Amino acid sequence: MNERDRRLEVSDSLANGRHKRAGRTGQPAYAGCSPTSEWLAGQLHSWFVHHQRDLPWRRDRDPYRIWVSEVMLQQTQAATVIPYFEQFLQAFPTVRDLAAAEEQEVLRLWEGLGYYRRARDLHRAAKAIVAQHNGQIPDDPALLGRLPGLGRYTCNAILSQAFDRRLPILEANSQRVLSRLFGRTDDPRQSAARRWLWQAAESILPDREVGTFNQALMELGALVCTPAAPRCSQCPLAARCVARQLGQQETIPARTPPPEILHVQEAAVVVHRGPQVLLVQRPSKGRWASLWEFPHGPLLDRESHEAAAARLLHQLTGLQAKVGPELLTIRHSITRYRIVLTCLEAEHASGEFQSDFYVEGRWLSLADLAVYPVSSPQRHLARFLLSPSRQRRLF
Ligand code: SF4
Repeated sequence: MNERDRRLEVSDSLANGRHKRAGRTGQPAYAGCSPTSEWLAGQLHSWFVHHQRDLPWRRDRDPYRIWVSEVMLQQTQAATVIPYFEQFLQAFPTVRDLAAAEEQEVLRLWEGLGYYRRARDLHRAAKAIVAQHNGQIPDDPALLGRLPGLGRYTCNAILSQAFDRRLPILEANSQRVLSRLFGRTDDPRQSAARRWLWQAAESILPDREVGTFNQALMELGALVCTPAAPRCSQCPLAARCVARQLGQQETIPARTPPPEILHVQEAAVVVHRGPQVLLVQRPSKGRWASLWEFPHGPLLDRESHEAAAARLLHQLTGLQAKVGPELLTIRHSITRYRIVLTCLEAEHASGEFQSDFYVEGRWLSLADLAVYPVSSPQRHLARFLLSPSRQRRLF
């Protein structure tokens, strides 16, 4: 039996999450439903041709464009990514342009996408590609995988789509499709399930057009085999899907309950010194690394916003200030934290900037704020300071 014709057999034990392994080959064994890799490729290909979304990174096979899109798409919906992708490619049309850019410029264009480490790794990897590979993205998984931020999924997505390398991919959408198709019930975030899914993803690869096959699998998960209410009646794989046969498409794969939500109260301070305000830069490691912001932090137990603003300003910047009125309240989320950020104004009274936490502090005009990369809630605050309604509430 050759690779192309190997039958993928799904067993009842798979549906119960106790998959059998095929002894010597180490490949997962499937019994019962029997989709062949050829059948899967054919079904997915014809569905993809007619139903794929027109996404800007699918219009050619440029590895740089595919790479940027894959990094942006991690943790982020395609519709959100499109304008960022187009703006980024306009600013940095080639890997050499990206490598030559200042990190602050890269972060500014990433602003709003979140997970800024992705942007810093992309930038560092571009520099390495120019320095070590003459500006050419390597088509070798061993070389590509050594670059910052390029894990197995991203490497294989680039190599299969740009160079038609026969490599599997596994991300949230494709792992959900595979779990349901083969009736693998356990949570894909668990290591045993992930190992199994990588093996399954590799087992079903066609010999040719692997990039299209991988994209079709992900697209099916994004559009049809969705986390809730999958549209099985429109699915090209429905005839051989174990989860559907068992009526368990809503419950496969199992999901670990989300972590407990934590509510946090924070205060942020906009300190004025004449016509200027203080903006400070975060350290190069940790959350929002290297981004700029107005000083902020959590309230202590029973502390008022005004007292917190004065305390935080002094602790974080060494400045004393007269705290004035509240400007606005911004609600935002970071992972399991639901943060209420109360923003206040203050007038500088004494002291010069010095900090054990922030890397740098700069006194800037409000117009200058636009060029500094900041987090989404801080951009909300900066825009508010420039808004016409704000002019009536000057300190
Ligand atoms: S038949 Fe339903 S559960 Fe199975 S792969 Fe298709 S959409 Fe997903």
